[in-house]
Amino acid sequence: QFDVVIVGAGHGGAQVAVMLRTQKFEGSIAIIGDEPELPYERPPLSKEYFAGEKEFERIQLRPAKYWDEREVTMLLNTRVVAVDSVGHHVTTEAGETIGYGKLVWATGGAPRMLPIPGGDLPGVQGVRTRADADAMKAASETAGQIVVIGGGYIGLEAAAVLTKAGKKVVLLEALDRVLARVAGEELSRFYEKEHRDHGVDLRLGVCVEAIEGETHVTGVRLNNDEVIPADLVIVGIGIIPAVEPLIAAGAEGGNGVRVDRLCKTSLPDIYAIGDCAAHENDYAEGAVIRLESVQNANDQANVVAKGIVGAEAHYHAIPWFWSNQYDLKLQTAGLSTGHDQAVLRGDPATRSFSVVYLKGGKVIAIDCVNATKDYVQGRMVVTAGIQATAEQVADAETPLKTLLP
Ligand code: FAD
Repeated sequence: QFDVVIVGAGHGGAQVAVMLRTQKFEGSIAIIGDEPELPYERPPLSKEYFAGEKEFERIQLRPAKYWDEREVTMLLNTRVVAVDSVGHHVTTEAGETIGYGKLVWATGGAPRMLPIPGGDLPGVQGVRTRADADAMKAASETAGQIVVIGGGYIGLEAAAVLTKAGKKVVLLEALDRVLARVAGEELSRFYEKEHRDHGVDLRLGVCVEAIEGETHVTGVRLNNDEVIPADLVIVGIGIIPAVEPLIAAGAEGGNGVRVDRLCKTSLPDIYAIGDCAAHENDYAEGAVIRLESVQNANDQANVVAKGIVGAEAHYHAIPWFWSNQYDLKLQTAGLSTGHDQAVLRGDPATRSFSVVYLKGGKVIAIDCVNATKDYVQGRMVVTAGIQATAEQVADAETPLKTLLP
């Protein structure tokens, strides 16, 4: 029995415990996680860790000593399979029951795999955990050609790291541009060119029909019957939120568990945060969405920790995100979905520029490539919900902060 049980030893789960202790919470805390490691940073898995530039120790969120000193019990290699919201306990895969006062569900999600023939062959790899990254790294060392399926951030980052390491990479995207779900066309076209210039065989609008191979992947078959040879297939097509036990316990939700502005689920004393939490987002005009970013996991964790210590806080953080590919640092603020104008600031040919997104004359988001000043100032402009014209934001010589009151 613990006062607070956190399920998921990832970004959000760790931050709840950190924040509870920072807020002088003196009750007992347990974090239950199904991975063997103490909480670590996930973004480097497709960046510095994958590239071999950072050791695992350097991506741990806190050293072991930190958790010991703060009396946070870590139950690792332990998977929660059921929740009893009436009895206030969870059940682990091994059949153990653990009681809670408050439960925080911070389980992220599992990589979505392709539901096609051969989709589960050895050599077909999703990217979510350290184990995934290690498997991918080991397989890539001996692989001749690698096929990456999915032109989202993770697929593009993996393609960049592998290409930099001298690997032959084919990247397949089903839509007609990369980053289609998260960015405007200008940014997509810029990244497509970058990847092609670096040697990636990037193919758009392609439909994968099957993964070929007997005991191990040998190729990827497209719907035009072309087979692209592959010794390793990396699948980066999104995640499925890990919410089954909570939904089975009666929590509202489906694609994620539904939470209110205090990150409370529909079940008593149960919160949910991070990638698995479907919430109304002010920056999406109140639409119910899930955000898959470290910042969101941390912000929602802080809301929950404050709620538990009685200092209620509402979730109202501006979404932001980053992605590193080659020597390009992309930083985004706000959500560009639904924009009616995408305005270019600066010249993509210089490899330092921004795209400002407007909706009804309001600045709703900004994507900045190697343009940190624009990012810092643009984020303030988005947060303030400033009205501006395309002409005003297009002039890269005029700092965005001049738009602020
Ligand atoms: P997680 O950090 O995924 O933690 C959830 C934990 O719960 C996992 O350890 C999981 O195994 C465990 N778990 C699941 N079910 C159970 C269960 N039933 N019992 C016990 N444990 C369970 N975000 C950015 O902002 N910037 C980036 O550049 C970026 N790059 C990324 C690159 C990669 C390769 C990946 C995979 C993600 C990246 N992200 C990035 C996203 C970011 O890592 C996630 O948004 C963040 O980790 C979400 O935190 P979370 O706490 O919700 O989930």
